[in-house]
Amino acid sequence: MNADYFTVGVRTGPPGLGGISLLMIHRDFPGVQLKRLATQGWLCSSTTLVALNDVRVPVENLLGQENQGFLPIMLNFNNERFSMAVSACRMSRCCLEDAIRYARARKTFGKPLIGHQVIRHKLSEMARLVLATHSLLMEVSRAWHSNESAQRVAGQVALAKVQASRTLEFCAREASQVLGGRSYLRGSQPGGRIERCWREVRVYAIGGGSEEIMLELAARAAKL
Ligand SMILES: Cc1cc2nc3c(=O)[nH]c(=O)nc-3n(C[C@H](O)[C@H](O)[C@H](O)COP(=O)(O)OP(=O)(O)OC[C@H]3O[C@@H](n4cnc5c(N)ncnc54)[C@H](O)[C@@H]3O)c2cc1C
Repeated sequence: MNADYFTVGVRTGPPGLGGISLLMIHRDFPGVQLKRLATQGWLCSSTTLVALNDVRVPVENLLGQENQGFLPIMLNFNNERFSMAVSACRMSRCCLEDAIRYARARKTFGKPLIGHQVIRHKLSEMARLVLATHSLLMEVSRAWHSNESAQRVAGQVALAKVQASRTLEFCAREASQVLGGRSYLRGSQPGGRIERCWREVRVYAIGGGSEEIMLELAARAAKL
C-alpha cells in the first residue's frame, strides 16, 4: 500500500519458466488498483491486493532480460524465506524468554510455576526446538556462503523455513499456556509479546511459500 513501484513477474513469452519477465509497475499507471487487506497479523507490512487491468508498461521498466525473470524471482525467494525463518526463530526465543521469566516470578499452589515439572518440561521442549532451529539456520547460512549449488541451498532454505514456522507455532502455544490469561491480552505486560507472536504464526507458515510447498521443493531439490 505504501510502495511506489511493484516488481511483478508477468507472462511475456511461451508457457514455462522461460516466458516470464520482471517489470517495474508504478502505482499511478492507469489500470493499477490497490486494496488494503485486513490481515490477522503482520500489521506493519500493509498487505495489499494489487490488481492490474490492461496496464501499459514502458519498455525501460523491464528488469534484466526479457523472458529471463524466473531465476531472479527464485533467488529472491531464498532471501525472503531465510529472513522469515530467522524472524520466526527469534520470535520463538522471545516466547521462551517471557515464559521463563514469568514461570520464575509467578507462584501457584504454594510454589513458583517453574517448580512444577510439567511447566519446566514445556520450557525444555521450547528450548530444544529453538536451539535446533538456530543451529539449522547457521548451517544453511554456512552452506549458502560456501557456494554450494543453488538448488541444494534452495532446498535447505525451504526446510529451514518449515522448521522455523513449526517452532514458532509450538513456542507461541506453549508460552501462552505458561502465562495463562495474560498471553491473551493485547499489549499486556507480561504476555503481550506472546499474544503478538501467536498472531504472526500463520503468515510464517503460509507466506513466502507454504509449508506444503516448501517440503515439496526440498524433496525435488534432493531429487527424491
Ligand atoms: C501476509 C501475506 C503477505 C503476502 N505477500 C505476498 C507478496 O508480497 N507477494 C506475493 O506474490 N504473494 C504474497 N502472499 C501470498 C502467499 O505467497 C500465498 O498465500 C502462499 O504462497 C499460498 O498460496 P495461496 O494463498 O494462493 O494458497 P493456495 O495455492 O490456494 O493453496 C492452499 C493450500 O493448499 C496447499 N497446497 C497448494 N498446492 C499444494 C500441493 N501441490 N500439494 C500440497 N498442498 C498444496 C498450500 O500449501 C496451502 O496451504 C502473501 C500472503 C500473506 C498471507
